[in-house]
Amino acid sequence: MFSKILLFDIDGTLLLSGRAGYRALTRAFEELFGVERGFDHVPVAGMTDDLILTDALARADVPADDEARAHFHRRYCELFADEIHFPGPRKGLMPGVSRLLDRLSQIDQIRCGLVTGNFAKPARIKLAHFEVWHFFHFGAYGDDAPVRDELVPIAVERAGRDGVRVEAAADVVVIGDTPLDVQCAAAAGARSIAVATGNYDEAALRQTDAHAVLADLSDTDAVVELLLAG
Ligand SMILES: [Mg+2]
Repeated sequence: MFSKILLFDIDGTLLLSGRAGYRALTRAFEELFGVERGFDHVPVAGMTDDLILTDALARADVPADDEARAHFHRRYCELFADEIHFPGPRKGLMPGVSRLLDRLSQIDQIRCGLVTGNFAKPARIKLAHFEVWHFFHFGAYGDDAPVRDELVPIAVERAGRDGVRVEAAADVVVIGDTPLDVQCAAAAGARSIAVATGNYDEAALRQTDAHAVLADLSDTDAVVELLLAG
């Protein structure tokens, strides 16, 4: 039995890709559907890639069947692998992330995984680009379910298949940067830690049911203590 399963969100929590995702989505959308800047007004923080696409299609009034969506998915992933190499605003790992993941990897009774709205492939490309992919043992992604609330149980089930089980739902901790990360933890009976390195500041995150709110993940000792508490 493990003492904790830690499920990290990616964008705004572990890293920012310098808008590589936005550029790849925009390029794929224009290529396949002939619409420029299709994602300029689509809210993305905490959303799954699948819902982001649905929203963009609706705003552009473009009908898309499953085949067109699958084609978009493939092309977006290809373009993302290209765009991740270019510079962009705030691109990089968030403060303290590398050190924290390294420390957590040395604690035998916990395992780190992912819960992200990103499709699985760009998630792996992003984390590999910043050399932190190897820290994550399992995950649930934007292609597993359109709604984030459904992702925590999927990640926990996958952990279980790898022999990683915890005693209680509250031994699962979600670490994310949006109210939707907090909400998906609550929906699964998990604890949550909100971190203000994305689009929401500490005051906004304190309005949620997060068990703790942090400015960032830079104080490794304090963050580890918090993650292992309860
Ligand atoms: Mg996020």
